[in-house]
Amino acid sequence: MSRSQGKEQTPLAKLISLSGKTALTTGAASGIGKAIACRFAEAGADLQLVDVDKEKLEACCGKLSGYNVKIDTFNVDLSSKPEIEQLWAELKGKEPDVLVNNAGIYPMKKFLALDEAFLKKVMDINLNSVLWMCQNMIKTCRKKGGVIINIASVEAVMPFKEDLVPYGLSKVGVITLTRALAAEYGRQGFRINALVPGGVLTPGTKNIAKEILKLNVGIIQSGLEYRQRLPLGRLGDPDEIARMALVLACDLSSYVHGTLVAVDGGFLSA
Ligand code: NAD
Repeated sequence: MSRSQGKEQTPLAKLISLSGKTALTTGAASGIGKAIACRFAEAGADLQLVDVDKEKLEACCGKLSGYNVKIDTFNVDLSSKPEIEQLWAELKGKEPDVLVNNAGIYPMKKFLALDEAFLKKVMDINLNSVLWMCQNMIKTCRKKGGVIINIASVEAVMPFKEDLVPYGLSKVGVITLTRALAAEYGRQGFRINALVPGGVLTPGTKNIAKEILKLNVGIIQSGLEYRQRLPLGRLGDPDEIARMALVLACDLSSYVHGTLVAVDGGFLSA
């Protein structure tokens, strides 16, 4: 007999609501992070928005001011562990219920031209920051538990584009971290999953596209091949990732844990 049998079902409106919750999103000033912040606000969550770009973060707040929720912004360079520790010191007493580790960079470099500084930068922002953010969340929210959503990438599951080895590696780390923490901390009240976006049109990807047009014809070819392979035949919109982040954040997905949710237009299935 399922747990819901014999009991009144929770109304859908309550399951999807984040009212009374606080959600921290990193990389909230642009693209997918900004879209997530918008949907979370619509669902009633108070917001904690983290980004290295102060101006864009302020602009993002302006856009969100129409929602009747509390918004706190934190100008943090997540590649710095001391800055992450300082952030959590500031959050003392107002720790989030939901943490979305979204901030990331995807710079391209030929594998044979890689150097330590390049690799370190990508790993610090895309992987190490996620690890330290998760550690702080689990340490400081032990009593109440919480939800963690880590943003990975299809590149971790199926490396497709050239010149993205450090990026793919960092996102493999994000997936492994997600699964390991899910196995270890599920019983302690944490629900932890990874979202796996495919190609999404964001300011970040648009900038890269401009660079590529100037520099590298080979990568243009792989971009075309990517689109040809896509069963839905188009790139994604940031809001399409945000909607799934909302599902993972709220009680609609109360039994979804330790998994990878691909939002990729079918790319990984093709
Ligand atoms: P974006 O470049 O549009 O936005 C990223 C945000 O992260 C920016 O606001 C930026 O200022 C912030 N950021 C970067 N470095 C930071 C740092 N050191 N400290 C704090 N903030 C920092 O990117 P996006 O396309 O929205 O991507 C968001 C996430 O989704 C990334 O983790 C990316 O790897 C992942 N992803 C994106 C796509 C895609 O096609 N857009 C596909 C798969 C995965």
